[in-house]
Amino acid sequence: MAIGKHQGYEYSRTGNPTRTALERCLAELEGGRHGLAFASGVAATAAVFSLLEKGAHIVLGDDLYGGTYRLAESVFGKWGLATTYADVDDPESFERSITAETRLIWVETPTNPLLKVVDLGRLAGIARARNVLLAVDNTFASPYFQNPLRLGADLVVHSTTKYINGHSDVIGGAVATNDSRLCGQLKFYQNAAGAVPGPWDCWLTLRGLKTLAVRMREHEKNVRYLAEFLSAHERIARVYYPGLAGTRQHEIAARQMRGFGGMLSLELKGGRHAVERFLAGLRLFLLAESLGGIESLVSYPAQMTHAALPESQRRKRGITDALVRLSVGIENVQDLRADLENALREM
Ligand SMILES: *Cc1c(COP(=O)(O)O)cnc(C)c1O
Repeated sequence: MAIGKHQGYEYSRTGNPTRTALERCLAELEGGRHGLAFASGVAATAAVFSLLEKGAHIVLGDDLYGGTYRLAESVFGKWGLATTYADVDDPESFERSITAETRLIWVETPTNPLLKVVDLGRLAGIARARNVLLAVDNTFASPYFQNPLRLGADLVVHSTTKYINGHSDVIGGAVATNDSRLCGQLKFYQNAAGAVPGPWDCWLTLRGLKTLAVRMREHEKNVRYLAEFLSAHERIARVYYPGLAGTRQHEIAARQMRGFGGMLSLELKGGRHAVERFLAGLRLFLLAESLGGIESLVSYPAQMTHAALPESQRRKRGITDALVRLSVGIENVQDLRADLENALREM
């Protein structure tokens, strides 16, 4: 018997066959050579931040998942990570924010909650010219609609909790890359810090993944229909959805995405009071923070996901008291429409 030989799996934090299956699948879906699975989306984000040395500076898009902001400021900030937030509507503002210490640009697209679309080709050009890494949080689009590595990103990050698993019953995260050196560093961190998903979670995620394409097509079909309906509704002031023609966001999205996703935000006429009545009137859209599952969810950013921002900051960013975010599920679209119609009537 040879001592010290094993069949490739020695200890499950380091590697596990079910995790390997998930990691290979995620890499292929993103058109990447390497994939790494983590215990959550924020654990995947932490792995990417851990690539940086002490004293490094990162430029982040200013419409951003709150947990990413918290991780950068309250966890990595203590260890000397410096941050600047650039205007996601203006690629030049990213370029202007780059300093001699900048090592990473981090963006989401489409963004949360305003569904702004960032021109990834343009940003990748800026990052390459300045020798800075570009990481893209692709959670909202899912790999079915967008592949940032193909558009020039160095790293793509997911909360697999959302569309990739799709059934609101697993927390998970992932990173994909084509860069073997970065993958080596991430793999080292993954094993050293240990925020890995267990095999059961990997299996559930793989099972969810098998229907990603079918689900995404249904999400999009439903959200397109509802976006048209809501845009024409007299009690709605504005609809945010990159699939609606006539905006610059739409032009960029049409170039870099294969579809526009399943998320939609809207601004109701009337303030907080109208929102409260609208939310109370909904029966199918459940009030919840999450997104990307087969069931329709509604959230109120001003009091939920973005409550930590001071009101002046919120208003500056367009997150008003009348803004509501919908994660449109795959239920019968006429039922969803009737639910929204009822709630708008009772408002
Ligand atoms: C949910 C989410 C995350 C964090 O993922 P968890 O799985 O909850 O840790 C990161 N980015 C985006 C865009 C998200 O929606």
